Amino acid sequence: MNPEEFRTAGHTLVDWVADYLGHVAEFPVRSPVEPGWVRAQLPSHPPDDGEPWDAIVADLDRVVVPGVTHWQSPNFFGYFPANASGPAILGDLVSSGLGVQGMLWATSPACTELETHVLDWMVELLGLPDRFRSGGHGGGVIQDSASSANLCAVLAARDVHTGRTPIQRLRAYTSTQAHSSVEKAVRVAGLHPDQLRLVDVDGTFAMRPDALAAAIDADLDEGLTPFVVVATVGTTSSLAIDPIDAIADVCASRDGVWLHVDAAMAGSAAVVPELRALVIEGLARVDSWCFDPHKWLLTNFDCDVLYLADRRPLLNSLSVAPEYLRNQASESGAVTDYRDWHIPLGRRFRALKLWFVIRHYGASGLRAHITRSIDSAQWFAAKVDADPRFELLAPCELSLVCFAHREGDDASEKLVHDVNASGHAYLTHTRLAGRYAIRVAVGGTYTRRSDVERLWTLIDSLAVRT
Ligand code: PLP
Repeated sequence: MNPEEFRTAGHTLVDWVADYLGHVAEFPVRSPVEPGWVRAQLPSHPPDDGEPWDAIVADLDRVVVPGVTHWQSPNFFGYFPANASGPAILGDLVSSGLGVQGMLWATSPACTELETHVLDWMVELLGLPDRFRSGGHGGGVIQDSASSANLCAVLAARDVHTGRTPIQRLRAYTSTQAHSSVEKAVRVAGLHPDQLRLVDVDGTFAMRPDALAAAIDADLDEGLTPFVVVATVGTTSSLAIDPIDAIADVCASRDGVWLHVDAAMAGSAAVVPELRALVIEGLARVDSWCFDPHKWLLTNFDCDVLYLADRRPLLNSLSVAPEYLRNQASESGAVTDYRDWHIPLGRRFRALKLWFVIRHYGASGLRAHITRSIDSAQWFAAKVDADPRFELLAPCELSLVCFAHREGDDASEKLVHDVNASGHAYLTHTRLAGRYAIRVAVGGTYTRRSDVERLWTLIDSLAVRT
């Protein structure tokens, strides 16, 4: 495909994406296909000769779209949102077009310097502590996902003790509500799952600092080495917010415990100054913090941002310098080589999409997206609260409503099933205090109050009446 052919094919495809987004609300939200349906539409063998572009595009409609769950539908309320947006899609297109491999500053200075600059902007946009800026020992890096960011934090924390403490004696702490990626990180870091302590939560599903202190002290009494606490601001099940200041107190009085905060979904809310007391309280005292612009800041997957108060432990963990990557700029010490800040060597030019998003929407546009989501979620929570059939199972401070049918788990489960079967909306569930909890996660790029009102009407009509 030469550049002129690319131009023609690309225009067709941009039209296709624009049409898709223009009509996405009309599809049944969850893909209705049975297992194996997509593969059954595809030929058994790859083509011997290249096919016309039109035939390839036609198969998007024939094969792919029916097998897609429409995450960009305004009626998607499952899991957490995957925020796509026009500027972010175009940023990814440019990234692909440039085809840059940004592992070293020398392999594309713009890829590195734009990332450093945009992440310093982000410190200002979210009101984060200055020590996360690139100027001193700290700094930020774009990762593919919060899972990877959590892993990097655990590795950096582990290696502070390497050579001093046998790995079997290390202990990690997180709450019973933490995301599964924390356990995965601990396992990938070479620890046994038993070396991760699951700390009890309070009635709001937030980590109890007294229980954390007790767990750490019990391990210290045994001669073990507590090395990392992973707290969560915005848990996956219910968006519960661990009390970071109090947890930082616990860590500070027990020397050498790394405090990492996973704010995958909720971190974006800090773009609204009035929400900072809730979502970034205590942050000046943490060692690392991550959030996912791909969840709630209008940026296409994949884009997580990890900030470190001091980047040196992470670099000590992950730096390798083979001969074939040696270059003058790296050796001068004057540049950042992001290959040392994450697991893979290679890296895409992800900063482009974040740069496009911030410039297109501005701080005010990003704030409007967050407040619109929260207003709609709280409207929905008020409806649930006022309906005698339902019960809220967790506080709704941000954009997630967790509730149950008072008739019990079966009625709640049936409601989720019926909503999803209708095709008009998509919900997922969790378990809170042993109960089946219906989750309504608001925050999609295209979701407006009217969509949430329609969801309420649907639920109202489908829910068992007592
Ligand atoms: N951490 C939390 C609190 C989450 O809610 C999630 C996903 O929902 C993750 C981590 C994992 O996110 P990612 O898909 O970016 O790895």
